[in-house]
Amino acid sequence: MIVAIDGPAASGKGTLGRRLAQALNLPHLDTGLLYRATARALLDQGHDLNDVTAAVAAARGLALTDFDAEALRGRQMGEAASIVASIAEVREALVELQRSFARRPGGAVLDGRDIGTVICPEAEVKIFVTASPETRASRRALELKGQGEGVDYAEILEDIRRRDARDAGRAAAPLRAAQDAVVLDTTKLDVDTAFEAARNIVRKRLADMAVRASR
Ligand code: C5P
Repeated sequence: MIVAIDGPAASGKGTLGRRLAQALNLPHLDTGLLYRATARALLDQGHDLNDVTAAVAAARGLALTDFDAEALRGRQMGEAASIVASIAEVREALVELQRSFARRPGGAVLDGRDIGTVICPEAEVKIFVTASPETRASRRALELKGQGEGVDYAEILEDIRRRDARDAGRAAAPLRAAQDAVVLDTTKLDVDTAFEAARNIVRKRLADMAVRASR
């Protein structure tokens, strides 16, 4: 079973993806890390984030074992990743890596922006996780504070709005819910309630599939 979880920055899709994967005993891939690692490699090599040839080479050079997730998670890398992620050739270079992860025997949970629409349109379960920009900014501010980063709520909110606009407005695989995705708005939900809601979406989908298979 493939579970596709998409949504905007700081919507909680990563946490939900991780917890669902654990509950379903499936491997989990946070696909944002691929774009973050591509951006990191470009910056480390002294290239511009819009250098298509260098960006494609960096994306092709990634292996899933390469990531130092903690080093990639900061605010600046999110912004840099979204610039690199708007390059169609970079997205293309990362498709196969994501699809081969998804098609492991038994399935997988992937979270990102275009999993249900482009990477795994065949996914059995698609959840589009969202929350108001203000709620997402507050959550991100708390998270960054916990990591010891200095935080300015207004700046974080602006970052989130800018990233939403770039991710949803780009021509290549824009952020949007797949037609057959279930939208989960976590604005008023705490982490545990959101997780229960996501689990219920999976349960319902599995039950529907079982009914269909028995007909
Ligand atoms: O999810 P995360 O915030 O780590 O993603 C960083 C950036 O990578 C996003 O703002 C988005 O531009 C890009 N991304 C993407 N497609 C994905 C995952 C992430 O375009 N599947």
